[in-house]
Amino acid sequence: MAASKPTPPNLTKDSDADLRRRTPWNTISGRAICLVSRKGGVGKTTSAVNLGAALALSGHAVLVVGTDPQCGVCRTLGTSPEHLPHSLDDIFGEAGTPLTELALPSPLENLYYVSPRIISLADEEKYDANLTAHPEVLVREIDRARNFYDTILIDCPPNLGPATRASLLAADSYLVPVQAEELCRESIRPLLDFIDSFQARAYPAATTNATPAPTHEPISLEGIFLTMANSRTRMGRHVAARVAEDFGDWLFGVNIPRTTRLSEMALRGKPAVIYDRRSPGSRAYFDLADELVKRFANESASQDSLIDAMITSLGQSLTREQDSVEQESVVEPDTPEIVSLEDLLAEEESRNDTPHDDSWDEGYWSGDRGRVN
Ligand code: ADP
Ligand code: MG
Repeated sequence: MAASKPTPPNLTKDSDADLRRRTPWNTISGRAICLVSRKGGVGKTTSAVNLGAALALSGHAVLVVGTDPQCGVCRTLGTSPEHLPHSLDDIFGEAGTPLTELALPSPLENLYYVSPRIISLADEEKYDANLTAHPEVLVREIDRARNFYDTILIDCPPNLGPATRASLLAADSYLVPVQAEELCRESIRPLLDFIDSFQARAYPAATTNATPAPTHEPISLEGIFLTMANSRTRMGRHVAARVAEDFGDWLFGVNIPRTTRLSEMALRGKPAVIYDRRSPGSRAYFDLADELVKRFANESASQDSLIDAMITSLGQSLTREQDSVEQESVVEPDTPEIVSLEDLLAEEESRNDTPHDDSWDEGYWSGDRGRVN
């Protein structure tokens, strides 16, 4: 199908002049984070899209990569798989297309997405076979996309099959959404154990100190967050308390509440944070985005001070001197440029155009309207 190729953001980032540009994470290239859970219906796709939208609204160039053959990402953004002009499957094969050329614009500036196009069983078998035989293609393409996007969110299928495994190899870290229910809580530990043993096999050098060193860093846990939480029920409070007890600091302070606004998203074909920014669900995703960025900044700061302490104790003052000379030419940004939700709302209010449309009542969604222009 003919389609205009969208231009990925930050195309100039690779140019010499811009090589030293930092992302809002204060990193040189973008971060890839995958959302993983063995269970379906826990809010992975809803979170990937809304978190992506919240980050895009706060200044990140975001790519949401759906790897689930059920194509939740494109459906949630208002396009049915058969109407995708190009898809994640196109990265494979001899004439494979770079992921950055496959990215499609979403209803929100700065938020792009790629989804597989799985319509038949044969499509799914071919897609799985490609990911099983060539996970390195996804790894390479995500790596390249880091030069164009600040944040790449990978939405995984509800199993630990080829798409999830390839995503775990491609990402820097993983986020675990946990539906605030007892059975979902119990599934967290086995999931973390699975990822540990998968890593041990994929990166033997990292776990045994053998050589050669792995070419890619093993993935780390970014954190766990509760979705569809209801603090008014005893069950909701119980699950939240037990997850906090078992996983301590890994649990995000922000919970995503169960709200109708979030479940309407697929009907509207837009992230909830666009069509009703003030709803509790949207606010929660803004808060989650904020916490994600702050946790990373704190983590990086403590790693930096650890490295500083090591350098000092090793008495490598010469190396340090050299580093500081090199660093002089780097334009160090201030703290990441994050726009707060309050600022956004205030700005919108002053323009009197806060998005709060109810147009979906007239039927946004239909297969025919799901076409990307
Ligand atoms: P997954 O990707 O893990 O399978 P989804 O994100 O598709 O899960 O969510 C499953 C269903 O639950 C969808 O119908 C979605 O609209 C709904 N949903 C997700 N998060 C919430 C929430 N916080 N409140 C209410 N409904 C939600
Ligand atoms: Mg999903």
